[in-house]
Amino acid sequence: MIKFLDLHKINERFRKDIDLRIKQILDSGWYLLGEQDKTFEKNFAQYCGAKHCIGCANGLDALNLIIRGFGFGKDDEIIVPSNTYIASILAISENGCTPVLIEPDIKTYNINPDLIEEKITPNTKAIMVVHLYGQAVEMEKIWQLASKYNLKVIEDSAQAHGAVHNGKKTGNLSDASGFSFYPGKNLGCMGDGGCVTTNDDELAAKIRAIANYGSDRKYHHIYKGINSRLDEIQAAILDVKLPYLDKDNERRREISKYYRENIKNPKIILPEVKDENAHVWHIFAIRTEKRDDLQNHLEANNIQTNIHYPTPPHKQGAYSEWKDEKFPISEEIHNTVISLPISPVMTDEEVQKTVEVINDWN
Ligand SMILES: *Cc1c(COP(=O)(O)O)cnc(C)c1O
Repeated sequence: MIKFLDLHKINERFRKDIDLRIKQILDSGWYLLGEQDKTFEKNFAQYCGAKHCIGCANGLDALNLIIRGFGFGKDDEIIVPSNTYIASILAISENGCTPVLIEPDIKTYNINPDLIEEKITPNTKAIMVVHLYGQAVEMEKIWQLASKYNLKVIEDSAQAHGAVHNGKKTGNLSDASGFSFYPGKNLGCMGDGGCVTTNDDELAAKIRAIANYGSDRKYHHIYKGINSRLDEIQAAILDVKLPYLDKDNERRREISKYYRENIKNPKIILPEVKDENAHVWHIFAIRTEKRDDLQNHLEANNIQTNIHYPTPPHKQGAYSEWKDEKFPISEEIHNTVISLPISPVMTDEEVQKTVEVINDWN
């Protein structure tokens, strides 16, 4: 069986170091907001090239904390791509803001910058870009619009740890960036985890306080905060894995390249990239009109696949207010997309087998 993602195999590589760190935590008797957290925050900020990193409980909270940190709320509109994972949109709704959906570019699956300006109103406060599937958004137009209309730019970097846009990493391409360390992400822990990165000192201090009951020092609450922390065990695991992230992303690029050069089936649309460094291939998404048929064919040959995602946000029950709206490009993507196995621990044989089975499909 070729697994979609073999998390056991991914983490097994780090067993010795993780065992050691967990022993340190057991010995210390300190489980939250301690040395492990501090060390990882410092190392991850440095990795991204950002001034600050604030650990939190998960990726959704990271985005939520950014929006709270900026003080956005009722009547504020935030622009977000219509084909993103639901979490980006939930973070906006959770704060009482209105998500304004913008269609993606069918070639990159990322927000189409040419469609943004017409949706900007006096209530627009921010553009949330999502580096979907691991590909960094081309930021130039986004920055131009942000500066023209005085908007904040927020990154949802949950799928793109280590992706590079014009020499700068995600997490350092906007006013503030949210990361998820959910186990399946390119940098994943063994439970839930997330963080915010930013170069803004004031915002960083505010987010750190909001994430800790709105408290800037003990029993002193200056914001109506939440409890969202990255625990010491998760921080330690992430700190063990971080030095291997670039190498892992490089292996994903290698597999992606093999797929793109060797899958030759006229019924399949392969992903294209302008800049190899901009993509860390969290997901290798291809498109075909006969998606279910391909998925069955691969399953019959013991190859697991996944769909990212089967239903667009505007068709979800949670957002029934959008049920009559039309986002044809998103719908096209959601109806045809299928994700092939890709991970740093896939063997060459597994990659070759996957290609053969796809090329045999007719
Ligand atoms: C995974 C993910 C999130 C949410 O992260 P969690 O840690 O699961 O809360 C947000 N946005 C995108 C694009 C994601 O893929």
